[in-house]
This record gives sequence, C-alpha cells and structure tokens, in this order.
Amino acid sequence: MKQKLTIALSKGRILKDTLPLLEAADIVPAEDIFSSRKLIFDTNHDNIKLVVIRATDVPTYVEHGGADMGVAGKDVLLEYGAKGLYEPLDLNIACCRLMVAGMKNASEVEGRMKVATKFVNVTKEYFARQGRQVDIIKLYGAMELAPIMGLADRIVDIVDTGNTLRANGLEQMEDIGYISSRLVVGKAAMKMKHRQIQPIIDLLSAAVEARKDSAGKEKAEK
Ligand code: AMP
Repeated sequence: MKQKLTIALSKGRILKDTLPLLEAADIVPAEDIFSSRKLIFDTNHDNIKLVVIRATDVPTYVEHGGADMGVAGKDVLLEYGAKGLYEPLDLNIACCRLMVAGMKNASEVEGRMKVATKFVNVTKEYFARQGRQVDIIKLYGAMELAPIMGLADRIVDIVDTGNTLRANGLEQMEDIGYISSRLVVGKAAMKMKHRQIQPIIDLLSAAVEARKDSAGKEKAEK
C-alpha cells in the first residue's frame, strides 16, 4: 500500500512556477489553488496532499515531519539553517541574487556599519566571515526604505531585475550569492518513504532539465 505523502508549497511568487513542475511529475491539485482559501489540497493521487503555506514556514514543516517534502527559496533555507533537511534538487525557478545594496554613490562607512535586512542570520554570517563589524537591524519588508530614511547604511535583500533598487535611488554593492527554489525532503521522510519520494525527485529533475532545454532553445532562436 502507498503511504501518505504531504508536500509543502511556498505561496506567493514561487507557487506559479512550482505547479507546472509538479504537473510534469504527474502531481496535479484537485482544484485551483489560486482561487481557493484552503490550506490543504487533494491531488490526482489519493495518497498525496499539498499544503500551501508561507515560504518561511516550509522548512519548519518539513524538518519536523509536518510535511514530508517541500519547495522553498534558498534564501529562506539559508536563513532557517536547517540541519534536518535534504536538498536534493535545484528547481531552477524564482532565480535571483542576494545582495548588499546602499544609496547610489554612497561613501564608505567609517566604523560599524548599520545593515537593515530580514535575513539576519545570513547577513551576520556574511559579514563575520569577512571580519567586518556590523549592527544588524531586523526589518520585515521594504528594506529599500531604510537607507533613504537614515535608519541603515546598507541593506541585504533579494535582487531580481534591480528595478526596485533603482526606483528608490539604491544600487547593488556586493553579491552574497545565487538564490533559487529548492526541493527539500525531511530526513525521516527520506528514510521511511524513500520508495515513494525518489521517483518524484527523478520526475521533477527531468522536468527541470526539460525546462532548461526549452529556455535554451528559445534564447538561441531569438
Ligand atoms: P526586482 O525589482 O526585480 O529586483 O525585485 C526585487 C524585489 O522582489 C525584492 O525586494 C524581493 O523582495 C522580491 N523578489 C524578487 N525575486 C524574488 C524571489 N525569487 N524570491 C523572493 N522575493 C523576490
């Protein structure tokens, strides 16, 4: 008999790109996720359910076994610092960069720099690795505002096109790293439900490669 399997999906911008990959792995929600206020969704498989939750909660659910596997941004995973999770696949969606940014043409900061971010742990680690002393100011959104209002010298935030920074008179200064959405699997689930989980990883992996190939072809044809 097939065991029950729960997959946690990050709501928001990642979800739109996640669903076609799941579909390629033959996992399709039984109803339209976007027009529903439900949190748990049946799928075309009796034993597979999807839960749609805040991105920052996905690693918590997967690590503690509330879900067997999930999809989360590398930014969220780095900040969470999960040790009880496997990260078997880069889904190559929601790709962007984590950056240090500041006001355009801002001068070097003398002494301790004030850095506003919602990625407190990642930021602490990044500056500590370089032996730079910073004061971190935790914010929950609109990081770009902090240097404008004199709250911080720099921000650490996700940058995709750079439009948000530019629109607010900021510029990219240091590149902390590449971010994309990852498939995560709980360590207990990987052990107990390996026979069900591995084929899903394989199908998702094939779907990611197929998507890369077609993106490459599109680029070549342009
Ligand atoms: P952009 O103006 O295209 O550089 O987008 C920057 C804003 O969009 C940032 O403030 C982020 O909050 C958000 N953003 C862009 N891409 C992502 C992503 N892949 N994951 C999460 N947030 C993102």
